Amino acid sequence: MSWPLPPGGLVGVLGGGQLGRMLAMAAAKLGLRTHIYAPEADSPAFDASPRHTCAPYEDIAALRAFGAAVDVVTYEFENVPALSVAVLEELAPVYPPRRALAAAQDRLAERRLLQSLGLPHAPFRFVEKGAAAGAAHQALGGPAFLKKLREGYDGRGQFRIEGEHDLAAAADWLGDAPAILEAAVPFAFECSVIGARGADGAAVFYPLTRNEHRDGILRTSIAPAGTPALQEAAQDIAARIMAELGYVGVIGVELFALEGGALMVNEIAPRVHNSGHWTLEACAVSQFENHIRAVAGWPLGAPAQHSAAVMTNLIGDEVLSWRERLAAAGASLHLYGKGEPRAGRKMGHYTALAPLPQERRAPTTR
Ligand code: ATP
Ligand code: MG
Repeated sequence: MSWPLPPGGLVGVLGGGQLGRMLAMAAAKLGLRTHIYAPEADSPAFDASPRHTCAPYEDIAALRAFGAAVDVVTYEFENVPALSVAVLEELAPVYPPRRALAAAQDRLAERRLLQSLGLPHAPFRFVEKGAAAGAAHQALGGPAFLKKLREGYDGRGQFRIEGEHDLAAAADWLGDAPAILEAAVPFAFECSVIGARGADGAAVFYPLTRNEHRDGILRTSIAPAGTPALQEAAQDIAARIMAELGYVGVIGVELFALEGGALMVNEIAPRVHNSGHWTLEACAVSQFENHIRAVAGWPLGAPAQHSAAVMTNLIGDEVLSWRERLAAAGASLHLYGKGEPRAGRKMGHYTALAPLPQERRAPTTR
């Protein structure tokens, strides 16, 4: 093991989805190699990586062998068990640090982190289990989202409550799991900022991205978005979170932009983020490359954007339109190699590009 990694070094990645696949390709571009660790035999990232281990996250022997083989460990999704990370930390550096993972794995811990930094988030109440949802709703009032504390993604761990008539079904849905009940935010739009921080503490930020969701799943991302003031405010939020966590790697901070210009943090993703896919084609150095550079202990690349971008996810059957997407001028198609489309599953994406005038290319380094 050696860190910073020399060219040819081996980056271990926990998680084998499309984000891991794109990390593997970014590592290969820099002459680094990846070793993907994932439990699913058909993991999309295996195809793009020279090495992989297919084993459960709880398999201590497999984890040890993986940790001993690689120079650094990172992850592409935040639901890796804390114990697995503790095992790996004895064998190789793990970036982003475990504290970031802990904060992102538990919605209550995430909100405590935001509160400790004085960062705004939606009003919420802790809900011990389904039977407690009614009392929490009475205290909070109005339309709300019941969100399980752990293991939510693509809107799967949450239940929308319009009013009292939804409470019985919400309580049933939650059962004995703990959750938070969060007030529905009347946002003007959703956006996200992708930041990267190196081991030396230097941070870069990509231009703000405007996001549209459908059924809780990201549908489109448009960049650049927002005013310079909004960019500055979003960057400031991400910078404070990264500094507090002693962060190394890429972070995605999902935000609600309110009428009048204020921002509220929705969620922190301690990894490369779907809303940053456009950086692959519209920036000289993508979020994936900057993540690999950061965890390898290498200097970060400038996040400057040279083209305007609109990224659209291909969800479920939408991927069947891949031939038309290939034909579209000025667009770049990605297919994740997931086989048969399944409803609600991200199967690929495409990014449409257009020239970006010089005056809209904001500096984003600090
Ligand atoms: P992912 O990890 O895929 O981003 P998730 O399942 O963890 O998603 P959230 O990011 O919490 O869930 O929510 C998904 C989407 O649901 C949000 O991007 C937003 O569109 C909507 N949403 C969630 N919470 C609220 C809220 N309090 N007010 C308004 N809309 C919300
Ligand atoms: Mg989210």
